Amino acid sequence: MNMRNLLNNEWINSPSGQTFENRNPADQEDIIGNFPRSDAGDVNAAVNAARAALKMWRIMPAPKRGDIIRRAGDILTQKKEEIANAMTREMGKPLIETRGDVQEAIDTAYYAAGETRRLFGLNAPSELPDKMNLSIRVPIGVCGIITAWNFPVAVPSWKILPALAAGNTIVFKPAEDAPYSANLFVECLLEAGLPAGVLNIVHGFGEECGDALVLHPDVNVIAFTGSTAVGKHIAAKASQTLKRVSLELGGKNAQIVMDDADMELALEGALWGAFGTTGQRCTATSRLILHEKIYDTFINKLISRVTKLKIGDGRKPGTEVGPVINEKQIQRIEHYVHIGKDEGAVCVLGGDRETKGDCSRGWFYKPTIFIDVTPEMRIAREEVFGPVLSVMKVVSLEHAIEVLNSTDYGLSSSIYTQNISNSFAAIRDIESGIVYVNCPTIGAEAHMPFGGVKQTGNGHREGGWTVFDIFTEWKTVYVDFSGKLQKAQIDNN
Ligand code: NAD
Repeated sequence: MNMRNLLNNEWINSPSGQTFENRNPADQEDIIGNFPRSDAGDVNAAVNAARAALKMWRIMPAPKRGDIIRRAGDILTQKKEEIANAMTREMGKPLIETRGDVQEAIDTAYYAAGETRRLFGLNAPSELPDKMNLSIRVPIGVCGIITAWNFPVAVPSWKILPALAAGNTIVFKPAEDAPYSANLFVECLLEAGLPAGVLNIVHGFGEECGDALVLHPDVNVIAFTGSTAVGKHIAAKASQTLKRVSLELGGKNAQIVMDDADMELALEGALWGAFGTTGQRCTATSRLILHEKIYDTFINKLISRVTKLKIGDGRKPGTEVGPVINEKQIQRIEHYVHIGKDEGAVCVLGGDRETKGDCSRGWFYKPTIFIDVTPEMRIAREEVFGPVLSVMKVVSLEHAIEVLNSTDYGLSSSIYTQNISNSFAAIRDIESGIVYVNCPTIGAEAHMPFGGVKQTGNGHREGGWTVFDIFTEWKTVYVDFSGKLQKAQIDNN
């Protein structure tokens, strides 16, 4: 199938004629389609279209923009199953998860549509008589949106829908591993009545078209989700034009299990957090920090549960663990498993590719558990982004939190405990953007702030009301109705 870019509401090929292929990670013979391999010229055309459309879109009454976004939510709801199926085929996670991915976009659509009747400003009294002070949010302008492949609809929706609600126009560069899902999502917005030029898509690779978007002087903000390495590169490049950059980057998330925890609950949480989405989530549990009193029993129970996980094609009923996205990523996992073994951690489960039966056709890796991991090991510090769990032993809550905090990342953390004092101490002392108590490290809700500290980002928060800080500028307005010249800081003394 020949897929295209979107420019001014028309699906077009790249004039360069270059394309790239996208394959089903569960079946390498299954080609999803050929997509335009866009370059700086395609990016420039898309930015020009978005800049032209901004003139009309930014002054449309916000609730009218909201009507279109709400309709897009309705259309996504109607097409949920179709999009989920296409997404599983394209990027592998089981259908139950891809349905959740689309649902997150639906929730975000309704939330963003509702916000178009709010978009609150902040006002304060004037220090002078007969004068009114206001501060209002205005759209930031043309937004460059660059996303990772693991949430092909949800993550773009977190950025695109609030950005549109706030009156911005967009150039969207989806991940090269999930471009078809991106097209399906955007089609829902077109069907809902989005005017030409408001949202444009350029498909392609990071260095060739992502970079051009980051460097483009007429783009006002880059909202990026991806790896910390690429995020740093983007921040450096974007600084040349002083545009705003919002970075949602990697994680090395941990789940603490205290000796007073509900063990069954903690076990369910660890299974879902570590091996859901084959561990390919920014919020995946890649470290399990166990109190010494329950260390051995918990590990034994975990091994017995993980052994039973069903690996395979995400479109087959009952599949719990889908494929890894591509050969490069599976080699990265293999690399870290070698490092773990070299460092002296003990691999008690998995540790190699799954090639049996149908799995021989795709990129599958066995759920893997390392025990006796220590905080200084690389498998305890660096993001693997795969089904690999590093288990560590601690002697107290303070010790657990110290170990949890000992990485460069700070996205999502979890603690299982029945003790209320432990819970609140953890909420206070854990260094991460999200803390879960008695639930796993995955499970963010669309209407709450989402993001992390340290090298997980640069201080922005998507989701909820905080996303509007990324996609708006504050404009301060003074209205003097006294009919005379009044001088601030001078006349009121
Ligand atoms: P990646 O950084 O390789 O790619 C992400 C996007 O950046 C892709 O669209 C890619 O084409 C683009 N890109 C690559 N090089 C670029 C460049 N030089 N200039 C501009 N764009 C460029 O990440 P990935 O492998 O797609 O995704 C996995 C990573 O994403 C993990 O680190 C994961 O933790 C992170 N992630 C973070 C969040 C979050 O919200 N914090 C959510 C999902 C994934």
